[in-house]
Amino acid sequence: MRNALGLMLGSLIAAIMISAVWYWTAAPRTELAAATSIGSVPAQRVAAASNAATAADDIEITAAIPEKPAAPAQPAACATPDALGVSRVVEIETAGGPGFGFQHFKQLDFLTEREVVLTFDDGPWPVNTPAVLKALADECTKAVFFPIGKHASYHPEILRQVAAAGHTVGAHTWSHANLNGKKMTEQLAKDEIERGYSAIKLALGAAPSPFFRFPELQHGPAAMAYLASRNIAMFSCDLDSFDFRAKNPEQVVNTVMTKLDKQGKGIILMHDFQKHTAEALPILLQRLKAGGYKIVQMKSKAPLQTVSYYDDALFKGMKLPVASPRSVGSVVQTVSK
Ligand SMILES: [Zn+2]
Repeated sequence: MRNALGLMLGSLIAAIMISAVWYWTAAPRTELAAATSIGSVPAQRVAAASNAATAADDIEITAAIPEKPAAPAQPAACATPDALGVSRVVEIETAGGPGFGFQHFKQLDFLTEREVVLTFDDGPWPVNTPAVLKALADECTKAVFFPIGKHASYHPEILRQVAAAGHTVGAHTWSHANLNGKKMTEQLAKDEIERGYSAIKLALGAAPSPFFRFPELQHGPAAMAYLASRNIAMFSCDLDSFDFRAKNPEQVVNTVMTKLDKQGKGIILMHDFQKHTAEALPILLQRLKAGGYKIVQMKSKAPLQTVSYYDDALFKGMKLPVASPRSVGSVVQTVSK
């Protein structure tokens, strides 16, 4: 009996070691090979989201290659007594591209009275996204994030924190383009959608959920048909916080609570990109708790299958970090001739 157990244990250890050796030798090498052939390809510079253009252009290090795929999220047990928490988790079957949020999609009414879904757009962004994550963690609760692909390529480590905390990660295009704009074509819309997802996958080291939110809630019909064909769920909202217009955190809290008390439930649209929202969140979560609201987390049944063309294009378009800012003369000197 003891010998049989030993044999099983031995086999298990051997299997793990074989997997590990394969991973460190074979698996990452393809990514690195792709990434080091970058030099000749100019980095893609798509116009940044209007509200982020100035801040991001001076950043040299773009999407870093994750050293290993993000581990499946295993949030620690909640340490806060009486935390807001998560009252239930719903799993979404995204075939055919279902729509959520009564502002635009009225078919799927799945929330019951006082149930709330927290959603955050336009991240990941330094300071504000981590502050949102901390507020959520302090209340042991979960949200859905719709990051912008470009921002994910600037700050992949912040997006990895979002996923590692157990939140759901969807996408919000590559550059926050209006997919219903006059100059938008079907091809451009497809590029915005797919490049956004691929950038997020590159940042996370794992595919995001097939959840999508249109920038400015501009639902272009052609883009909607495309998302449906890709089995991607579309998210509008029940309740818009208009936090980007708020003059202070109090205004964010008051707008959300006033609307919520009137409607009784809903998917709330906020922005982890916004400073006032990050500052408002601890208070807002307290108010939700005091008001008897319950948080529902939405998850997808399966991750999105990204398109390899866009995955590859992003690898090739990545800029490597500058190894040393020193001039050549200070690094290389002829000492004999
Ligand atoms: Zn947005």
